[in-house]
Amino acid sequence: MMEEEREQFRAKLTAMQSEIRTISGSAAQDLKPVMLDHTSVGRVSRVDAIQLRQMSQEAARRRQQLLLKVEWALRRIDSGRFGLCFPCEAEIDLRRLNADSTITRCRDCVEGS
Ligand SMILES: [Zn+2]
Repeated sequence: MMEEEREQFRAKLTAMQSEIRTISGSAAQDLKPVMLDHTSVGRVSRVDAIQLRQMSQEAARRRQQLLLKVEWALRRIDSGRFGLCFPCEAEIDLRRLNADSTITRCRDCVEGS
């Protein structure tokens, strides 16, 4: 991979990282425990609140996983191993890296696993 390509991936991954962190920060308030709202009417709204909170937790979990993958990819850029397959060290197809810059396996290793 050329230096220029690597820097493009670094810029893209860094942007993803800060975007995820921004979303996580603004979503944090959705994760507060569900409070019983005595002004709301009955059970339905409480169920809604609990479901909403579960959806927020699921989204937060996914964001956290993606953030870890993005940070892992950035570390691989720093160590010069970005774009190389983790198990076999073959170069990963640039088109696949462009589609998902956090992948760590070549096509053969994905299909073989
Ligand atoms: Zn491989």
